[in-house]
Amino acid sequence: MPRSEEAIRAEVVAYCLRLWDRRLVTGTSGNVSRRLDTGDLLVTPAGRCLGSLDPEELVRVSPEGAARDGTGRATSELPLHLAAYRVRPEARCVVHTHPTFCVVWSKGGTIFPQDTVGARETLGPVAWTPYYPTGSQQLAQVCAEQFARGIDTVLMERHGLSTIGSSLESAFVLTDLAEEAARIAFFSRLIGFDDDSLTAP
Ligand SMILES: [Zn+2]
Repeated sequence: MPRSEEAIRAEVVAYCLRLWDRRLVTGTSGNVSRRLDTGDLLVTPAGRCLGSLDPEELVRVSPEGAARDGTGRATSELPLHLAAYRVRPEARCVVHTHPTFCVVWSKGGTIFPQDTVGARETLGPVAWTPYYPTGSQQLAQVCAEQFARGIDTVLMERHGLSTIGSSLESAFVLTDLAEEAARIAFFSRLIGFDDDSLTAP
């Protein structure tokens, strides 16, 4: 049975709250979208804290990004979401966040070492993209180029992280795992452990 838009709105808001509770977003940072069966998107509104959204505040837009109703203004990162769905038609949601340790790593121009089981086997490939202004078409483009390669997790220089998934759960999990991998890499470097490849005994 197809789920109602009301139920999907409630699910999006629940995941926004999980992002907030995990401190994967702060202040008014971060945005989430979920594609409906019609191709329309439900996206989080501009300038709102993801920790205190009401389901009615989500903005419904066409596949091209045009507002379906007159209420609310979609996130300024809408071009990023639209570009991701264009190159990955099977994706059902996009999660964009500013997790602390991912942002720290993004400044170095490389991906954090993925030498733990969680980072290598569960998180999977991560791509790094250069800085472009928030909400710009260039930013959307460089992220979409990585998504088009089949990569679901993109680290954005001096900005944050974007993940795509077949469900809100899968995109949320990638976000959470990426931040944990960045955190482990940060502390591993801090106490002087070498980065290492996984080896069988
Ligand atoms: Zn952002």
